[in-house]
Amino acid sequence: MSSTPTHRVFNFSAGPAVLPEPVLQEAQRDLVALPGVGMSILEISHRSAVFDGVLERAEADLRTLTGLGDDHHVLFLQGGASQQFAMVPMNLLPADGVADYIVTGSWAKKAAVEAEKFGRVNVCATTEADAFTRVPSSDELHPTPSAAYAHLTSNNTIVGTQWPTLPEVGDAPLVVDASSDLLCRPIDANRCGLVYAGAQKNLGPAGLTVVMVRNDLTERAPESIPTMLRYAVAAKHGSRYNTPPVFAIYLFGLVMRWLRDMGGLSAMETRNRRKAGVLYDAIDRTGFYRGTAHPGSRSLMNVTFRLPSEALEQQFVTEAAAAGLSGLKGHRSVGGQRASIYNAFPEAGVTALVDFMVEFERVHG
Ligand SMILES: *Cc1c(COP(=O)(O)O)cnc(C)c1O
Repeated sequence: MSSTPTHRVFNFSAGPAVLPEPVLQEAQRDLVALPGVGMSILEISHRSAVFDGVLERAEADLRTLTGLGDDHHVLFLQGGASQQFAMVPMNLLPADGVADYIVTGSWAKKAAVEAEKFGRVNVCATTEADAFTRVPSSDELHPTPSAAYAHLTSNNTIVGTQWPTLPEVGDAPLVVDASSDLLCRPIDANRCGLVYAGAQKNLGPAGLTVVMVRNDLTERAPESIPTMLRYAVAAKHGSRYNTPPVFAIYLFGLVMRWLRDMGGLSAMETRNRRKAGVLYDAIDRTGFYRGTAHPGSRSLMNVTFRLPSEALEQQFVTEAAAAGLSGLKGHRSVGGQRASIYNAFPEAGVTALVDFMVEFERVHG
């Protein structure tokens, strides 16, 4: 291995995704030996006092950022958001109960299909007939009275839609897959029964799933479910029933610190609105680019758009990559372009993309 000067491109990948550069630099600086510890974070025991401090600080910072109260646990799990598709119904859906699912994209659909393995699922709203290009309005939701919970996906990573605010779903605990927008803006997590997110989009590296769950909901699970898949076990053992993803939790903690340094979630929202606004303005400026999400459902995190032909779309992705703009190809299931501009994505990268778009249109439009 040799050392080469580092050149970072603008990384528009949907996930694993860009991380804050100061976080990467700190992790790199301290990788061989944590200050005052003399060992790498990769080498320490998950039961050491050092790691206790890392985990406690990460949780405390997450609580400060979100305003999460003591009646919710913070759990650091593995298995990705996809494992939550199963854990949520295993823990929260009683045999004689029914769970509402609002289906706004393929992740939401996968969550609903998985839940059907464990109990009764009612799709209480879906925008599939509109190719998931929008989220439902409040009068399209038909919550089941006394549902065990209502599940929704706050940001639809693939189609580029996002709920402008979390909807009212009646009395059922709201369960939110926030994998691609958690901490992009303030969130009323105290109002939710459970919020989960795979960390690799907006929170940290792959390998960590963050769950915020109301204490009483962890007590619902039947005895029969596997130990490792019970929220109550993770809660009781401080996310260390077995070895947790130590490095991913450490890096998540650095991202929480960075978010606090950046001014917290309101400041993040202002910055994210500015970034997305500049990009959507560029898309709307002429008819050459076409946004795929309905204006009222547009995502702050994943900006999706099309060009006049698939040939031009391919050329766009290739030329953009050559210009240092990486990862702009849309998800294979929908095609087109997708610019993922999570918290850590720099504003300069959005400017660079807009400049590139203007020039590409001048040449090819
Ligand atoms: C990426 C994603 C998932 C799947 O995440 P994994 O951690 O890979 O299981 C689920 N839901 C949403 C909204 C996502 O963006």
